[in-house]
Amino acid sequence: MEGEGNSSGRNRHAAPVWRIHKIPSKQARLGAGGRPRRSGRCRGGGRKSDFHIRARHVVFATGYETQQLLKQKRVHLASSYAIASSAGTNFPKGREWPVIWESARPYLYVRSTVDGRIVAGGEDVDFVDEAKRDHLLARKTKTPGKKIRKMFPHVSWKLASAWTGTFAESKDGLPYIGPHKDFPGAQFALGYGGNGITFATIASAIIPDLISGTHNSDSRLFRFDRKSG
Ligand SMILES: Cc1cc2nc3c(=O)[nH]c(=O)nc-3n(C[C@H](O)[C@H](O)[C@H](O)COP(=O)(O)OP(=O)(O)OC[C@H]3O[C@@H](n4cnc5c(N)ncnc54)[C@H](O)[C@@H]3O)c2cc1C
Repeated sequence: MEGEGNSSGRNRHAAPVWRIHKIPSKQARLGAGGRPRRSGRCRGGGRKSDFHIRARHVVFATGYETQQLLKQKRVHLASSYAIASSAGTNFPKGREWPVIWESARPYLYVRSTVDGRIVAGGEDVDFVDEAKRDHLLARKTKTPGKKIRKMFPHVSWKLASAWTGTFAESKDGLPYIGPHKDFPGAQFALGYGGNGITFATIASAIIPDLISGTHNSDSRLFRFDRKSG
């Protein structure tokens, strides 16, 4: 997404107009919060990707790619690997729901799902080149498998899937949630860090409060202008 200041119309300051490049036109027409304040017209001969949307509030939840918009680069990008077993793994009695975070380097995390899958990962590499990253998939995902076998020698399980992706890490390990001075009318929900899925959930609680003007004491922890970030 590319920000574009609104230079005309009644809501000049409160309602920025953003140019949407990648969102399909049908979704784009929904506008923010499902209450469209759109001027969803095709420009330049009706190219589908060339829309303007007018919204009172915009939330950027575009992950590490958001770095392309921000002047100050704040995060370190790396790649990580994960595996999942097929469902129905029988863990030993009393150890049915392992949640393990081994803080060694390279680290390892292991957890189970409600349908009895083992999910494990780690083996980070310090680059983001997609081809190089994907090429290492088979090799990198062998290690978590070996470690699980060592930890649970009596548990039999089968590998069902393995995957890799890029993730972003901030200096203090916390996400960025809230407004940014260069983007009036916008909120950001950037779940950067190893616990990004949890952070995304936290963002979903904080951002409605920020938009509605409700006090939220947690929001200061994740502001862009915090000292540790
Ligand atoms: C292999 C791996 C394993 C991980 N394991 C865990 C884990 O166990 N626990 C955990 O908490 N975290 C884990 N993470 C990290 C976690 O996935 C991220 O921190 C989290 O997803 C970040 O959430 P987000 O909403 O900020 O961004 P994302 O989840 O990256 O979502 C951003 C979305 O925006 C879309 N997007 C980007 N640009 C545009 C655009 N211009 N137009 C439209 N859409 C756009 C992207 O396609 C994407 O769908 C893991 C990451 C990887 C790579």
